[in-house]
Amino acid sequence: MQPIIIKVGGSEGIDLDALCADVASLVHDGVPLVLVHGGSAETNRVATALGHPPQFVTSPSGFTSRLTDRKAIEIFEMVYCGSVNKGIVERLQGLGINAVGLSGLDGRIWEGKRKKGLRAVENGKTRIIRDTWTGTVERVNVELLQSLMSAGYLPVLTPPGCSVDGEAINVDGDRAAARTAAALGAETLMLLSNVPGLLKDFPDEDSLIEEVPPAEFEAAMEFAQGRMRIKMLGAKEALDGGVSRVILGDARHASPVREALDGAGTVLLGG
Ligand code: ADP
Repeated sequence: MQPIIIKVGGSEGIDLDALCADVASLVHDGVPLVLVHGGSAETNRVATALGHPPQFVTSPSGFTSRLTDRKAIEIFEMVYCGSVNKGIVERLQGLGINAVGLSGLDGRIWEGKRKKGLRAVENGKTRIIRDTWTGTVERVNVELLQSLMSAGYLPVLTPPGCSVDGEAINVDGDRAAARTAAALGAETLMLLSNVPGLLKDFPDEDSLIEEVPPAEFEAAMEFAQGRMRIKMLGAKEALDGGVSRVILGDARHASPVREALDGAGTVLLGG
């Protein structure tokens, strides 16, 4: 059976109890799964409390990302790999699922090049930021994930990833999940967030786009703003990598995974 990759965001409003209950019930039904999660809202809170508030940069092509200097990546690890990851693992353990929480740094699960500089647009001018621990996943340690899964463990993965030189790098969770789905030959990638899916007229939740066939992908991309653009980019990478469908679903629901599998949210189809 092909695995399902489920990525849950770290935005406000996400119900992790409901998510874990749903994941546990699928695992009990014998569905092979990998769970990927974020932790952005909690990281912002902790970083602010520690006196190192989050900083974001916008690239020349309009993508916004977190600026991770050394201090920021340490706080990022505390939250993503610490409180959020262990919180999810604990919930799953309580539901009888033998979950193993790992970051992309562990076992080089997500390996990629560290960016030498980040191009950021500020007041119409582009500047290069060098003090940044950021990168993109280029290689997934499929062997490690498959050996965990075949031994009956549920991998619960989170950024950061691992640079080729062995440094922690902030990688985008949606794109890392997309890479993982393609590498594991998954049929379905699910990206769950705090919106019903891709909205034609954001933030109007009644404007949900239910299905995007391959020929309409570029047109659908026009509706995505801000962080949703990166989600769509991840979706495209997964579909190009052979994943049959990507579902953008709502993690605020009582049964978020089952509902998405039953057709709620936006279904993006591969060619
Ligand atoms: P997460 O951290 O849960 O993965 P993100 O914050 O990265 O989620 O991305 C989802 C966000 O994208 C939504 O909360 C919303 O603010 C934003 N967004 C922008 N454009 C759209 C759109 N067209 N449809 C849905 N959400 C959109």
